[in-house]
Amino acid sequence: MEEWFDMRVDPAQVAKERAKARELRRTNWWRAQIQKGVCHYCGGTFPPSELTMDHIVPLSRGGHSTKGNIVPCCKACNNSKKYTMPVDEILSDLDIDEPGDTEDAGVEIDLPDELMRELVGDPDAADDAATDGTPDGSATDA
Ligand SMILES: [Zn+2]
Repeated sequence: MEEWFDMRVDPAQVAKERAKARELRRTNWWRAQIQKGVCHYCGGTFPPSELTMDHIVPLSRGGHSTKGNIVPCCKACNNSKKYTMPVDEILSDLDIDEPGDTEDAGVEIDLPDELMRELVGDPDAADDAATDGTPDGSATDA
């Protein structure tokens, strides 16, 4: 969790953690995990041969090969997990919140005009001119 957003992972560290994962795979602890036969993500029951070792925080994102970060995962979840990484979820959430929404939401923001223009973008937005009925405001420096 603590290094979730640290994308600059040292390749040497990843290699080290991979080696640690291989070691863990040979332990009785891991055998017990897959003998339970329960996928961490979907909760389904699978034969041990169907379960793979999965890092909750991927090594490529700074995760570690610790027992707390390693879970049994069925093949289906292992495949679909690639597309539902938390970071991707955050990104798709941001996609939903388009900048235009804030105008209609009636959110009261106490900001100076210059800053508002900076945030909203185009100061001479066509909508603004249309609603005001004054296409050529008094601010023109002609
Ligand atoms: Zn699963």
